[in-house]
Amino acid sequence: MQRAALKLSIAHLYPDLLNIYGDMGNIMALKMRCAWRDIEVEVHNITTGQIINQADYDLFFAGGGQDTQQVIAANELMRNGVELNKAANLNKPMLAICGSYQLFGNYYLTSDNQRLRGISILDVHTQAGEKRFIGNVTATCPFLPIRTIVGFENHSGQTFLGDNVEAFMKVKVGNGNNGADKTEGARYKNVFGTYLHGPLLPKNPHFCDYLIQLALNVKYDCNIPMFPLNDELEYFAHEARICAKY
Ligand code: GLN
Repeated sequence: MQRAALKLSIAHLYPDLLNIYGDMGNIMALKMRCAWRDIEVEVHNITTGQIINQADYDLFFAGGGQDTQQVIAANELMRNGVELNKAANLNKPMLAICGSYQLFGNYYLTSDNQRLRGISILDVHTQAGEKRFIGNVTATCPFLPIRTIVGFENHSGQTFLGDNVEAFMKVKVGNGNNGADKTEGARYKNVFGTYLHGPLLPKNPHFCDYLIQLALNVKYDCNIPMFPLNDELEYFAHEARICAKY
């Protein structure tokens, strides 16, 4: 019996505002790693002014942005804050990178002292620091089959974790959330925030597949088998970025 085609609907939040340092590459990785497995994917760009119904989407992605764009993005995210929180509490996977990670938290105090309210999916808060953290990061992640995660950070924001969230990664080389507590990113249910650009998912195919697997399992309410891909090139790029000091 022919298996019904698997299908995922991805909401790309505000690519017109939050899309710097190649973060679009994350959407491309999700699309290709699904296509290579005959999983149909629809990517919906959610633009300014749009009101969403979270039931229309299986996975949510938002990229990074400069402070100016974040002021607009904060208002837009607030417009859909209830729906996005509903999706998070239904265990739908979400990935928020840097500027959007900050806005998925409780607030972001910018370098010119504007307090941008976040949608509080992640119990974190951020304040702009004096120093800009720029450079390659090597981190480890306890729940992934391959423990290392590599990426590139470029942020002045320093993020601090609250009680209702766990660290996504442990920094081995680089700064991470705040350059002090050796955490990087945050996780609540299946929502992941991280400072890592790169883009993140092409360089960490194991995490890309982890997100796809979560989306399939939540949507179809069972464990959907995903066959492995030939990731020789991807892991060549991954290992090339693992900092020698690690
Ligand atoms: N403007 C924020 C900061 O500097 C986020 C930057 C980004 O998304 N790379 O911390």
